[in-house]
Amino acid sequence: MSRDVLHSWRDPRVQARFPHYRNLLDGKAVAFYKIAKSIAVPTIDATQSIDELVRMHDAARVLFKDEVARGQTPNDFEQTTVKANPSFLDLKVRLAKEYLKHCNFCENLCGVDRTRGQIGKCGMPAEACIFDAIRHEGEEPILVPSGCIFFYGCTFKCVFCANFEIAHEWRKKDLPPLGLQARSMWLKKPASWFNSPEDVADLVAELFKQKVKNINYVGGDPTSDLHVILEAMEHHDMNICLLWNSNFYNSAPALDLLLDVMDIWLPDWKYGNDACALKYSRAPNYMAIMQRNFQRINDEGSGEIIIRHLVMPGHVECCSKPALEWIARHLPKAVVNIMEQYHPAYHASEYPEINRLPTKEEIDAARRYATDLGIVWEPVTYTAAWNPNNRSWDVSDM
Ligand code: SF4
Repeated sequence: MSRDVLHSWRDPRVQARFPHYRNLLDGKAVAFYKIAKSIAVPTIDATQSIDELVRMHDAARVLFKDEVARGQTPNDFEQTTVKANPSFLDLKVRLAKEYLKHCNFCENLCGVDRTRGQIGKCGMPAEACIFDAIRHEGEEPILVPSGCIFFYGCTFKCVFCANFEIAHEWRKKDLPPLGLQARSMWLKKPASWFNSPEDVADLVAELFKQKVKNINYVGGDPTSDLHVILEAMEHHDMNICLLWNSNFYNSAPALDLLLDVMDIWLPDWKYGNDACALKYSRAPNYMAIMQRNFQRINDEGSGEIIIRHLVMPGHVECCSKPALEWIARHLPKAVVNIMEQYHPAYHASEYPEINRLPTKEEIDAARRYATDLGIVWEPVTYTAAWNPNNRSWDVSDM
């Protein structure tokens, strides 16, 4: 463990907010997705409607919560529990595949049949498309090393996107990137855009061997690949923390599938009003969707949440402050990474008001406001200095 990781974990506010994650790291808790595999559900067949499947899902969640509340150790769990057939996880996979036929994974609610090659706003096919998988040291201190699996595509269209080649423009390339660590060394198969649940499971197994602290589904945004990520869980069985790292524009049915299998959450909260979200990310109805999703993971999910808020130039009053106010009022257990890494990328030059770095005064104002609201942010926030020579951030911990 590096010094800053130890420093963060020694903070009693961090210990109080991440008990399940800490127990998982210490080998004292069972990952939620493994418990979901042990919960039996009635027979699943091709005739059941989505409504029937959802009712079965709701009933299984009650049993799942009872099992979580038992708090078994991994040892006891392995000795006393068998995989159910069919299981709560099988039911989630089946529902996800049904949803894929009229895709509603995110709030764009395209309704396209991705199983028949139709493409929605995210541009993603029915298969997962993975950019890379790496043991990543650059995430928040308590998360590193993190086993990141980067999925192509995104459900947003942020005009300032720093990862636009992964999120939006990947189809313009002829071939997946050469030298891709995950595909060339770990998957042992020819380079391909398309990846199966078994491929994702192989990457999870390889990252686990590399002693990562968690499996970090990220992008672009991983929402479009929800069905593959869930099915991959059928093919691996390690007791490891699963982490959802997303813009959090998930639909309610999609969040329903994720709620019981993710141990820790790493969502963005970008904006403090709908107009800015629409203008810069093409994301309608942003605030209501964020509020609904965050409230649900707080109330019904693990409630162990690191929120990423990127301070944008000229947007402290209209975005940072309202977002932080809502978080302070409704998510007192969350910690917030108040990020200063914004830089004008992609189409930002077409928007003069955001075509600059945020000033030190703006970053300080957002952080001071968070402190005044009682938000815990220091243990998970890095300071960074923009290096214009290599156009990257030089990062140090607070
Ligand atoms: S994931 Fe979202 S953007 Fe992509 S097809 Fe489904 S509803 Fe549309």
